[in-house]
Amino acid sequence: MRILILILLFSASSISGASTFETNFEDATLRIDYYRSGDKETESVTFDRAFRQGPWAGPRQELLDPFPYGRSIVRVFDPDSGKELFSKGFDSYFGEYKTTTPAHQGHSRTYQESVLVPFPKHAIRVTIELRDSKTAPLARWTIDPEDIGIASEEPTPAIVVNHHVPAPPQNCLDIAFLGEGYTSHNIGVFKEDLERFADLVLHEFGHSFAGLADEYYTSSVAYEDLLPPDSEPIAPNVTALLDSVKLKWRDLVDDTTPLPTPWLKKEYDLLDRAYQAEREKQNLAIAEASRGGHDAEAAQMEADAERLAADHGKRMKALLATDPMAGKVGAFEGAGYAANGLYRPTLDCLMFSRGIQPFCPVCRRAVAEMIQRYVDPPAAQ
Ligand SMILES: [Zn+2]
Repeated sequence: MRILILILLFSASSISGASTFETNFEDATLRIDYYRSGDKETESVTFDRAFRQGPWAGPRQELLDPFPYGRSIVRVFDPDSGKELFSKGFDSYFGEYKTTTPAHQGHSRTYQESVLVPFPKHAIRVTIELRDSKTAPLARWTIDPEDIGIASEEPTPAIVVNHHVPAPPQNCLDIAFLGEGYTSHNIGVFKEDLERFADLVLHEFGHSFAGLADEYYTSSVAYEDLLPPDSEPIAPNVTALLDSVKLKWRDLVDDTTPLPTPWLKKEYDLLDRAYQAEREKQNLAIAEASRGGHDAEAAQMEADAERLAADHGKRMKALLATDPMAGKVGAFEGAGYAANGLYRPTLDCLMFSRGIQPFCPVCRRAVAEMIQRYVDPPAAQ
């Protein structure tokens, strides 16, 4: 069974800030489906269909995206005045495909994508652009809300299970898990899965919602192997520390903490390398057992590997707990898959190691800022 996650972003309008919204949009959503095709070098977008959907669940006050995240951005313009009315940055699977070997070899692939914008009261121009690109937008469409080609979609009736007691939608961020493949008889199983999944999903939520990078790394890889030297990652929780005075989370570091911040990296890397070597041996043995049809043996070895991973995680946590810098915000080398040249804000964080644990203060702030983007302040109601 699979569970899909859907983030529903609700906000309410205020009398002062919502005039652009009120003038140009109604309380409904325009979904535009399109195809993005290409390989490493090329990229093109073709229109598929447009839908009118239920209430608009995005911001109504701050309609232009203030964040630099996502390689693509959708923009909505008033075609008469040229004024930009709405924008939202995003990433898609195609961006990942561009980095793969088939794409580098020139194999073209097509992915279906959708963007959601508020439903217009008058004709609008919509563009799909690559951020930081000097070339023309990938797509430029004029959409007339009166167009009979815009299909209407009624929501499918659903059983709703509240994991947390909902607060007023205009003051909070709602996260919906869509159970796919469960029947109405499976509702008990769905509730159990939801309980488990709600705890596990936060790390992925950090990526997709707040643009956070992975803070973990692989002992053998250096930053220069991943990205050009002297470039600073966009993610709010990793840095190349090119200038420690301008560190993006400098205000969270106290004056006594050195930058970069010393930590037990040598000991950590030694333990990690020993574990990775053991893990590689296990993986080979499991693969061989599977190939030979020894399923029970392979399953047993997989269970052993899981146990080894859990034990390793505990050992690493115990080591980090002994570090004098535990709990401090600084700049700790080893982050974003690179052992050298990239730094993370704290020794441990939900974006660094597995398990149920909090975000570090830097990640927490990034998530809070993104929530603020979508939620109107209670005073504005
Ligand atoms: Zn963090």
